[in-house]
Amino acid sequence: MSEKKTLPSFAVLQLSGCAGCEVSLINASEWVDKYQLVYMPLVVSTHTVPDDTEILLVSGGVRNDEDVYNLRRSTELVDQVIAVGTCAISGGVANLGDRDEVRAMFTAQDNRHHLPHLLPKSHPVDAFVDVDLYLPGCPPTPELFMAALSGPQDYQAGSTVCVECGREKLKEMRPKHLLGFQQGEVTPDICLINQGYLCVGSSTRGGCRAICTIPGHPCVGCRGPSNAYIEKESQVWFDRVQKVFERLTDIPPDEINRALHSPQLSLFLFQFADYLDGGRPPRLKEKVL
Ligand code: SF4
Ligand code: SF4
Repeated sequence: MSEKKTLPSFAVLQLSGCAGCEVSLINASEWVDKYQLVYMPLVVSTHTVPDDTEILLVSGGVRNDEDVYNLRRSTELVDQVIAVGTCAISGGVANLGDRDEVRAMFTAQDNRHHLPHLLPKSHPVDAFVDVDLYLPGCPPTPELFMAALSGPQDYQAGSTVCVECGREKLKEMRPKHLLGFQQGEVTPDICLINQGYLCVGSSTRGGCRAICTIPGHPCVGCRGPSNAYIEKESQVWFDRVQKVFERLTDIPPDEINRALHSPQLSLFLFQFADYLDGGRPPRLKEKVL
């Protein structure tokens, strides 16, 4: 019986870049029969570079401390490291902002013919144009995209993520402190708040079918406020979340409040205040899918 041939293995570590190098690699099919691809976040669903990997291709520049950590940790595990592409070799586009002479060239009036001028801050589109329908989510699910395209009038959604989640809320299971992000082991069918997770599904708009909370990831509010809060000040929503935690846990209110204002959650929760921004007409709930 012939022995099964083991192919040399390689991994692709993607740092801060655009994934163009990876797409180019995928377009080059010649390597498929000669190597075994063991890690590349774009297409292979392992979480880390396996420790017996022979070759590590590194694409993208080092732009943040996570890049440094991943780079250092991965290169310890492999035999050979190959820097791939301009970003890995010179820092790439993200590096241009750090080089005074390049910045001076871009900002010189003579060279600005094709460069967009930056606004002082990022704005929602309805600061400039009228919007017929809002489709919140990060990203919206394919089902929501189809509902938006084919007509939202027939789309049936729960009022909140809680309604679609189905995990049971218990009065007698009362954690004393929050568990950190992705800490501990999630018990099925019981509300994540009872298990000490900061889940904001009670005030978040339904329609996503609770795709995060059903498998055990707390809702971070990416769908924005449910209809009950859409035309109210964000403090009303914060107070409501606090009350849910008071009812189901013995966690000190300060601890909840601090966690709700953490950078990780505020990335999405800022939207709860965004619907009533004084600078433009309020977003009506009838226009939000
Ligand atoms: S886990 Fe979150 S979404 Fe599910 S019932 Fe509890 S609070 Fe609601
Ligand atoms: S974060 Fe919340 S609203 Fe967003 S998809 Fe997950 S469960 Fe739904």
